[in-house]
Amino acid sequence: MDFKLKPIIIPFFISHEGCPHRCVFCNQQVITGVSGTGGLSGVTVVDQVRSRLAELNEVSPARIQVAFYGGSFTCLSFERQRELLGAVRPFMDSGQVASIRISTRPDAIDQARMDLLAKSGVTTVELGIQSLDDQVLAESGRGHTTADSIKAVRTLKDAGFQVGGQLMIGLPGEGFARLYRGARQLADLRPDFVRLYPVLVLGGSRLAVLYREQRYRPWSLVRAVIGCGWLKQLFDAQGIRVIRMGLQAASGLEDELVAGPYHPAFGELVLSRNLLKRVRIALRRYRNSGAKTLAIAACDESVFRGADNINLLRLRRLGLLEGVEVVFRQDLTRNQFMISPVDERGYPISSPP
Ligand code: SF4
Repeated sequence: MDFKLKPIIIPFFISHEGCPHRCVFCNQQVITGVSGTGGLSGVTVVDQVRSRLAELNEVSPARIQVAFYGGSFTCLSFERQRELLGAVRPFMDSGQVASIRISTRPDAIDQARMDLLAKSGVTTVELGIQSLDDQVLAESGRGHTTADSIKAVRTLKDAGFQVGGQLMIGLPGEGFARLYRGARQLADLRPDFVRLYPVLVLGGSRLAVLYREQRYRPWSLVRAVIGCGWLKQLFDAQGIRVIRMGLQAASGLEDELVAGPYHPAFGELVLSRNLLKRVRIALRRYRNSGAKTLAIAACDESVFRGADNINLLRLRRLGLLEGVEVVFRQDLTRNQFMISPVDERGYPISSPP
C-alpha cells in the first residue's frame, strides 16, 4: 500500500463488538447508524463484507482499504478476528483490496495481536485514545490509562503500522488546559493522523443520564470549535494530518442528540475560524504597509467567507478591510493567502503561518 495516496475506505461496522463495557459517551448504534451486534437487517458483518467487496471492479485497487469500525477489534477473540479478516482475504489475494484498517482500544495491543493483524493484511490501526489525562479517562469510564495509550502508539509504530489517534473534546472533567496538554503529548508521539470529535450527549448513553442529573455539562458549540481549532493548528504545525473533525451526520444522530456541540459541518466551522484568525492577525500586522489586496485561495472561498459571510463582516467591523480588496485566486493552494503588494520592508507578503 502506498501511504502517500489517500486510501478509498470501505467501512464495516462491528457495533460495540469486543468492547469490555460502555464508555459513558458512547452509543455506536446512533453514531454509525448500525444496530444490533454488527449485523444490518439480520445480515452478518462477514456477509456484508463478502457481498460489498464482490461488487468491486478493478478501479484503483492500490488504494482500496477495508475498515472495521465501531467496536474494539483487538478485544475480540482471535477466532472472531480471523473470521472478519479472513472474509477480506480473497479480495486481497485477487488484488482488489490493498489493505485493512481497524479501530481498537489502547489497552488491547500486544505482540500476539499485532502478529495476527500484520499477517492478515492490516496496515493501519486507529486507537481510541480520547484523552491523555487519567482523571478524564476515569470519569469517562474508559477503563484504560494514559500510559496504555503512549505504549500502544509506540509499540504499533515500532512494528511498522500506520497509527491514528482519536481525541475527544469536552469529556467529563476536561477543560482547555487538560485538552491542550493531552494534544501536545499525542503530537509528541508522532501518530500518522488524528481524528477530533466533540463530545455529544447521545440518547441511550450513560452521559445522557449524567446530563439529566446535572452532573455533566456539555461544551458549547463555540467552545468546542475554539478547542478543536487550537488542536488542528497544533497538529498542522507538526505535520500530523487531521483527517476528521466532528461526527459524520449518520441517520438517527440528530434524532438521538440530547445535548452538546453538534453541527453538521463542524469541521468547516473550525477551518473557517482558524483561517479568520490567521488573516486577522496578518491584516493587523500589515495595517500600515499600504496593502491593497487580500488574496485567498479560491478553494477556501466558502471557508473564508463563513456562514452568511460572517468572517467578512467581522473583518469589516474591525476596520481591517478598509481600502483592501478581497480576491479569490486559483493559483493559491488550500490554506494559503497573500496580502499585497509588499510589506514595510518591501517583501511580498504571503501566507503567514
Ligand atoms: S468508545 Fe470504543 S471502547 Fe468505548 S464503548 Fe464505544 S466503541 Fe466501545
